[in-house]
Amino acid sequence: MLLKLIDKKDIGRLIGAVIEDGKVFRGPVQNGRNVAFAKLMPQDGILLEYGNSLEPPKHQLLPRSEDLYGYEGPIPSDTAAEEAGSVIFGVRPCDAFAIRNMDKVFLDEKNADPYYAARRERTVILSLVCDEPRETCFCTSVNCSPAGKDGADALVYRIADQLLFEACSKKGEEFILRYSPVFMDSDASSLAKRDAVIMNLSQGNPSVKQGNLAVRQGNPAGSTAGNNSGIKEIVDALTDKEWDEISKKCIGCGVCTFLCPTCHCFGIHHEERGDLKRVVRSQDSCQFEQFTLEASAHNPRKVRTDRVKQRLLHKFSYSVERYGEYFCVGCGRCVVSCPVNLDIREIIMQEGHIHE
Ligand code: SF4
Ligand code: SF4
Repeated sequence: MLLKLIDKKDIGRLIGAVIEDGKVFRGPVQNGRNVAFAKLMPQDGILLEYGNSLEPPKHQLLPRSEDLYGYEGPIPSDTAAEEAGSVIFGVRPCDAFAIRNMDKVFLDEKNADPYYAARRERTVILSLVCDEPRETCFCTSVNCSPAGKDGADALVYRIADQLLFEACSKKGEEFILRYSPVFMDSDASSLAKRDAVIMNLSQGNPSVKQGNLAVRQGNPAGSTAGNNSGIKEIVDALTDKEWDEISKKCIGCGVCTFLCPTCHCFGIHHEERGDLKRVVRSQDSCQFEQFTLEASAHNPRKVRTDRVKQRLLHKFSYSVERYGEYFCVGCGRCVVSCPVNLDIREIIMQEGHIHE
C-alpha cells in the first residue's frame, strides 16, 4: 500500500501539477455558510476544516441537470465530458462510500449509464478522513466509517502540518506516483500519527460511538444481508399506522432526496429554447406527488405516507435486497436540512416504543 506525505503549505503545487496535466482539481470551498465543491487553482489553497458539503460530491458525477443530446440547432457542449480528467479532493468517506453505491446502479454491467461511466472513469476520488464528525453523523450505524476506504482512490489523513495520502485503489496509486515529485516518503512518525487519528475515531469520539450504539440498541437481532446491522428488519416491520405517524410531519419538499449522496432518481424531458432543441436529464424526487403520476392519471403513490415509506424502504430494505447494502451512508444531510426536523435516525431508533 502506497503512503506518501505532503506539507499542507505545498498543496498548491499538487493542484498546479494536476492542472498542468490538463485536468481539473476540485475541492471544498466556503460558500457563505455552507461548503461546496468547486474548481481550485494553486493559489486558492485548500479547505481542510469543515463538517461536510451542503450538496454531496455525487453531483460532480451525476449533475443535477445535464444535456443528454441536442437534436436541432447548436448542440450544447458537455464541459465535464471535455475534461481530460478530474480530481475531487476532500470527499468525506461516507460520500465516497455513497459513490461506490452509485457505481452499483450506474455501472451495472448490463445497463451501464454512459454519461456517468465517462465521468467516473476519469475521476480520482481523494477522500479526507472525517476526524471531527458532526453531531448529526451516524455513518458507523450504517456500516460506513469516518476513515473508511470504500469508494476512495486515496484516503488523506490530516496529521499536524502535513497530509498523509494512502492509496486505496490502482487509480489512487497511479495518481500518487504520477505526482511523486510533490510528495515525500512517509516515515514511522507520520504512520504513528495516522494510527493515533484512527484510534481516536474508534475509541475517543462520542458521536461515532453513539452512532454504533443507537442502531444496535434499536435492533439487537442483527443482520439480514452482508454486514447489515438490522435496520432492514426495523423498517420492514413498520405497520401502516406507524408509517402514517412517521410521515405526518413531512411537507414533501424533496430536500432530503436532493441532498442525499445516494438518491439518484431522475427525469428526462425535451426542452426547446430558441433554436436549441435538446433532451435533458434532471434530478427528480420520489417525495413529489407528480413523480409517479402516470399518463392515465393513475398515481400509485398519491398519498404522502406512501412516498415517505418508499424513501425509507429504498434506503434500508430494497437496496439490501438488490445490492446487499444500505443506500444511506449516515451523512446526516437530511437530518440537518429537513425543514420540519423529520430525523431519519429517530425513525429507526423509535421503533422500540412505536411497537409498545
Ligand atoms: S438518507 Fe440522509 S443521512 Fe442517509 S445518506 Fe441520505 S442524506 Fe445522508
Ligand atoms: S426534507 Fe423533510 S419535509 Fe422535505 S420531503 Fe424530506 S422528510 Fe419531507
